[in-house]
Amino acid sequence: MTYDAIIIGGSFAGLSAALQLARARRSILIIDDGLRRNRFAAHSHGFLTQDGRPPSEIIASARSQLMRYDAVDWLDARAEMARRADKDEFHVIVKGESERVARRLILSTGVTDILPQLPGLKERWGRTVFHCPYCHGYELERGKIAVLATSSLSMHHALMLPDWGETTLLLNGSFEPDAGQLYQLAQRGVTVERCGIERLDGGDEQVDVILNDGRILKMDGLFTLPKTVIPVAFARQLGCTLDEGPLGNYLYTDATKATTVNGVFACGDVARAAGSVAMAVGDGAMAGVAAHRSLLFG
Ligand code: FAD
Ligand code: MG
Repeated sequence: MTYDAIIIGGSFAGLSAALQLARARRSILIIDDGLRRNRFAAHSHGFLTQDGRPPSEIIASARSQLMRYDAVDWLDARAEMARRADKDEFHVIVKGESERVARRLILSTGVTDILPQLPGLKERWGRTVFHCPYCHGYELERGKIAVLATSSLSMHHALMLPDWGETTLLLNGSFEPDAGQLYQLAQRGVTVERCGIERLDGGDEQVDVILNDGRILKMDGLFTLPKTVIPVAFARQLGCTLDEGPLGNYLYTDATKATTVNGVFACGDVARAAGSVAMAVGDGAMAGVAAHRSLLFG
């Protein structure tokens, strides 16, 4: 069968796009392999009516509401490839399955975080190590906060985080602030630590930064900026234009979330420089409506 739309990625952005299309009684297939970006966090914050709820519960509830609509199919699988066969015909290849065909394609694959290499960091990601102060800063109760620098971009983090607690910038050899930057840090009351870091330790409530000289900094949370990668192969196969963000490339879209390839829409983290659940849901709604209109009006 030919679906009206195939949606690759069934998380916040993809589910939101799907809901609009389902409500327009269009046939859709959602292909999802369940690797949501925030699966490491026990609680999600900052999304209306769902503040503090486990992200898995928000997704389960959205999915069960969506699946009540007719003409919505779901495939728990990884899409390997997508290509445009004709003006109104996209083919998606899924390992071990027959090719799936649709008239429109929505990419809502999210991004993958590439974490800094530091022993003890990845086990703490989403628990005491974070990237987004709006998501996880408040719960630190104005405690002690470390910013692990990865480049001079970490200045931004270091200057923001004093709004959430007493902040120490751990340079760890990644860059050296110039005189102007040191002045800005001092103005915000940020402590600068130059000693290299051996590893992170600590339980669920705090993170210990073990420095190379043997000192231990006891922190309530640590923030760092991971690089992000999108599944760039899709963009190449389809010919979508990319945009360059400070942390990684993302798919260029216009205000209706259309990519540069006719019939292909993109929403959520994959199509913005930095995202959140609320933004992914908003972008998804726009992409779903725009895909529907393009089915009607070409
Ligand atoms: P995702 O939620 O990442 O979902 C993408 C989906 O696409 C996944 O299910 C994935 O498996 C699927 N997929 C990808 N490629 C394929 C493929 N080829 N085939 C099939 N399926 C595929 N934001 C907040 O607003 N509040 C928070 O509290 C918060 N906490 C966070 C905590 C952590 C640790 C992290 C890393 C992020 C957090 N975020 C938070 C950000 C939030 O997770 C993202 O903004 C949001 O998940 C983006 O939604 P999305 O639908 O674009 O992508
Ligand atoms: Mg979350």
